[in-house]
Amino acid sequence: MSYSRLLNFINGSPMANSSGEVFDVINPATGEVIYQVECADQAIKDAAIQSAKTGFRVWSAMTAMERARILHKAVVLLRERNDALAEIEVMDTGKPWQEAECVDVVTGADAIEYFASLAPTAVGQQQEVAGDFYYTRKEPLGICAGIGAWNYPLQIACWKSAPALAAGNAMIFKPSEETPKGATMLAEIFIEAGVPAGVFNVVHGAAEVGQWLTTHNEIEKVSFTGEVNTGMKVMQSAASNLKDVTMELGGKSPLLVFDDADISEAVSAAMLGNFYTQGEVCTNCTRVFVQRGVYQQFIEELVARTKNNVVAGDPMDPEVNLGALISAKHQQLVLDYIEKGKLEGASLLTGGHALSPQSAPNGYFVAPTIFADCQDDMTICREEIFGPVMSVLVFDDEQEVIERANNTQLGLAAGVMSQDLRRAHRVIHQLEAGICWINAYGASPAEMPVGGYKLSGIGRENGLEALNQYLQTKSIYVGMNKLESPF
Ligand code: NDP
Repeated sequence: MSYSRLLNFINGSPMANSSGEVFDVINPATGEVIYQVECADQAIKDAAIQSAKTGFRVWSAMTAMERARILHKAVVLLRERNDALAEIEVMDTGKPWQEAECVDVVTGADAIEYFASLAPTAVGQQQEVAGDFYYTRKEPLGICAGIGAWNYPLQIACWKSAPALAAGNAMIFKPSEETPKGATMLAEIFIEAGVPAGVFNVVHGAAEVGQWLTTHNEIEKVSFTGEVNTGMKVMQSAASNLKDVTMELGGKSPLLVFDDADISEAVSAAMLGNFYTQGEVCTNCTRVFVQRGVYQQFIEELVARTKNNVVAGDPMDPEVNLGALISAKHQQLVLDYIEKGKLEGASLLTGGHALSPQSAPNGYFVAPTIFADCQDDMTICREEIFGPVMSVLVFDDEQEVIERANNTQLGLAAGVMSQDLRRAHRVIHQLEAGICWINAYGASPAEMPVGGYKLSGIGRENGLEALNQYLQTKSIYVGMNKLESPF
């Protein structure tokens, strides 16, 4: 059987490799190969660097206003093609159409719009010093690498390229080999909008291609999204030429439900933070701590809504709100965690098994799973599962739950559900996490910086500060007095 082929995207157009090496991409909802992708061989890699160098020269010489105008055109194209792009994301990731249609492309476009608008605000400063003066310029870094995970492929490519390109850099992006199409579509859109060839290149392949990017001495920065252990390896390789790094890594985030919370809203937050994108979201609140007084009420509503309101099936069906996991291997990993949960004594309230929905019988589905009576030291409460598996724990008082919530090496996100506004702020200020929500969960607008504490990351994406992470400061001292010298 012959499949359509996706090529590397270099210097403004698709480029065929010489090695002939390809890999398959599988639709997680059907288990079928949907297309093949050419691996980046040495010729592709060399061309990517050369084209990024040329692209950088042209792009960085433009004014920020010129770059902004072009990026805004890309935003218009992304929004016009929302449905076609969302469908690609559903096919590659297995996530529900009802999410991709209103989140994945939209939030990617928002980030490009935000950073395009910010680009002209990147100004230096000047100061007089003893009759002389100095001024600073904000200059781009050069060629940046972006390496993405598979859960939000197009959105991740947008979130990384938006500040990089707005600041005048070129980027070579490697999507996850499981979901390579979205980033390639973005590359085409950039060209159509008028971004010069070579400014945004896409290289395909597995870890080896990522490693090449992280060690190449003409690449100045790596922005990485993925697992903690991979992030550590990336940072080690990036040290070879002291590359700047942004690391968006995993989490094991807590949601604290106090007895004064609106319990229905707390259940909504817990379900959003565990079952959205079938649980494959880095910020998920997989440890749900519920205060003893409302524990029973919370559990009853949670289980009832999970049993009644979750619809698994063909992710293109607009009624479906639980999609397939990314691969058979990942499905097995999630099922293995569920077994550990049972073995270690957690009470399984619902789910706990694979699903084979009628409309997508061969997909890699796992039923939404809730464990209660969980203990802090259980494997399911310590390790990131990245599937629809929620652990509910009971607590008695505020200080106790803060300590237990912080008792992890990870620190990506946290949430507090409480109607006592003093308590909500007091508690959230003590939680060791970079992305926090009060009476909300999961919302991540382009204006809000996101990133992790502790092992969950370094640097921030989105928000004002992210633009600066793609700029460096040049100081220029200007002598206004006769130059004195002892020589
Ligand atoms: P991985 O760490 O397995 O992979 C991430 C990317 O890195 C992929 O493109 C992968 O290539 C590539 N890669 C793998 N090994 C190396 C290496 N040695 N050097 C350079 N690149 C490499 O993560 P997943 O794709 O499994 O994504 C899931 C993880 O991502 C979860 O831990 C999740 O929490 C985290 N994540 C974090 C987010 C955040 O913003 N904090 C957001 C989304 C996800 P390939 O896969 O093609 O082999």
